[in-house]
Amino acid sequence: SLALREVTDLERLAGRVVYGSAGSRDLAALSAGLGKLPHIRELLDHCPSSLLQELRDSLDDLPELRALLDGALRDEDEKPLPFSVREGDFIRPGYNAQVDELRSLLTNANSHIVDMEVKTKEQTGIKNMKITSNKVFGYYIEVAKAQTGLVPGHWTRKQTTVNAERYISPELKELEHAILSARDQVTALEYQLFCELKKAVCAQVDRIQRTAAALAQVDVLQSFAAVAAANHYCMPQVDNSDALTIVEGRHPVVEKMLNGTPFVPNDTHMDGWDDLAAIITGPNMAGKSTYMRQVALIVLMAQMGAFVPARSARIGVVDRVFTRIGASDDLSSGQSTFMVEMTEVAALLNHATGKSLLILDEIGRGTSTYDGMAIARAVLEHCADRKRLGAKTLFATHYHELTALEGELPGVKNYNIAAKKRGGDVIFLRKIVRGGADQSYGVEVAKLAGVPDRVVRRAREILEELESGNAPVDGGRTVSAPAGQVSLTDIGGEAVLNKLRMTDVNVLSPIEALNLLAELKGDLNGG
Ligand code: ATP
Repeated sequence: SLALREVTDLERLAGRVVYGSAGSRDLAALSAGLGKLPHIRELLDHCPSSLLQELRDSLDDLPELRALLDGALRDEDEKPLPFSVREGDFIRPGYNAQVDELRSLLTNANSHIVDMEVKTKEQTGIKNMKITSNKVFGYYIEVAKAQTGLVPGHWTRKQTTVNAERYISPELKELEHAILSARDQVTALEYQLFCELKKAVCAQVDRIQRTAAALAQVDVLQSFAAVAAANHYCMPQVDNSDALTIVEGRHPVVEKMLNGTPFVPNDTHMDGWDDLAAIITGPNMAGKSTYMRQVALIVLMAQMGAFVPARSARIGVVDRVFTRIGASDDLSSGQSTFMVEMTEVAALLNHATGKSLLILDEIGRGTSTYDGMAIARAVLEHCADRKRLGAKTLFATHYHELTALEGELPGVKNYNIAAKKRGGDVIFLRKIVRGGADQSYGVEVAKLAGVPDRVVRRAREILEELESGNAPVDGGRTVSAPAGQVSLTDIGGEAVLNKLRMTDVNVLSPIEALNLLAELKGDLNGG
């Protein structure tokens, strides 16, 4: 991975050259990147895999192109290559005779200037003078105010400053012209040479891209190997069977996020026959989502060609993995949570085949209990029925009623993620076991999450009432409506409700309505 890290992004660099946005730095980076390839090839020599051997042979370090680029571009030891190719100063000394000649002229120009300064001082007797240049005026002779009397008549005054006068002489003008044109020539020439280099790269762009593609594959395989070795993954058996057998599978991401708490591995056994669909119940927070995602990820990783986080795995190839997970609101597009959920379910039902893997997490929870349960059951029946879709399905739900499907529909099995209750608390075992869950522990989880004690106590009360038959028994999910009525009855609101029921709002005048409101309020307070 170290060797790979040093390689520049060859594909992107080649792209920049082709689209004309490359500079001298890009060409240098391209050459440097290609220069790392022989070392990578050497490393691959030791790998027995035939795929890696094939990739090694596809890594073409384009030695001629590298030699050309390295010969043409100067080293960056002293200063980096310029940002713009229009500035020049990137061609290596010795690469082009004309560039060298112009450059030496420029270097010598400086000594010419110094010579001229010395000579002029002698000729005119002006001691306090110097020849310099700036961007606006070019070259000029600066003479201190006190000595301007000595300035020869054929100098032209250009500028006056506080302490000095600036002049130009015909000789200096001539020298300036020579210097400036040499500078223009050398930058133009360097740019022309750069364009030729670019052309040379363009001519080889196919080879560079093929190499980049092979290198990308090496990169991916190397990452697979490194992750597998570091995290104890195993090599899955991938075949065309209907099997989905995972022994001690783990969630590759969640196991990394646990900060010391050990991740509890879980087995999976599904096939196209007796174990086609798994209904997974269990308390909130038990790990249902984690388990289902881990199965999907292991299948995906196996089919990518990676090792998987498990002790062993046999994966029959699936044609697609469909997931319906989490209620992600899409308010910006004006869709409600439930609408999003159903749109995804629709897509899944319309496109899945018997060879697909379906992960359905709490279908139907975005709507009322009975609607939700009805939809959940219908979807599950459709997916798990071999006469209809018959796809491998993992189905997490809080509707415990659905566990009745085991026995009714062949291929459906119940599982739950074990938890134990100790006092008012709940302990998660994280182990998936056969059978439906008996309890939800929703109230305990609410407590765990820090919902205030008073509210938790009240919830427990309502739950007990509901469970003792004071409300339709539906798994203890319908809480809000009966709870509201219960509290009203408690304070003698029944009379108020009756009065309201008997009132025809359409015949009330505003005054009558106000009076009725006052009366009702009186009843409530009095009751
Ligand atoms: P809900 O029904 O509320 O959506 P859930 O049953 O889907 O809950 P998850 O979100 O899967 O629960 O898991 C809750 C947390 O439990 C995870 O974030 C993780 O920290 C932990 N967890 C899940 N599975 C395991 C496991 N096998 N080993 C250790 N920790 C786990």
